[in-house]
Amino acid sequence: MSCRQAREYLEELIMGDLNTSLAEIVMQHLAVCPDCQKAYDEQRRLIELLRTFYRRSKEQKTSVEAVPPL
Ligand SMILES: [Zn+2]
Repeated sequence: MSCRQAREYLEELIMGDLNTSLAEIVMQHLAVCPDCQKAYDEQRRLIELLRTFYRRSKEQKTSVEAVPPL
């Protein structure tokens, strides 16, 4: 798998949307490619941040309009 392909699957991998065999291939690439591993970490952090933000805004019942579109 090329770096370009791996990057395309990163988000789905983090969200758990990737099927098992494909996830394994991407994980194998991450294990040998520090660049993609770094990209994976950064993307995961961003997604976790967004999840926390949305969870918090839901709990506080802030209006949806206050949340900027993704
Ligand atoms: Zn790579």
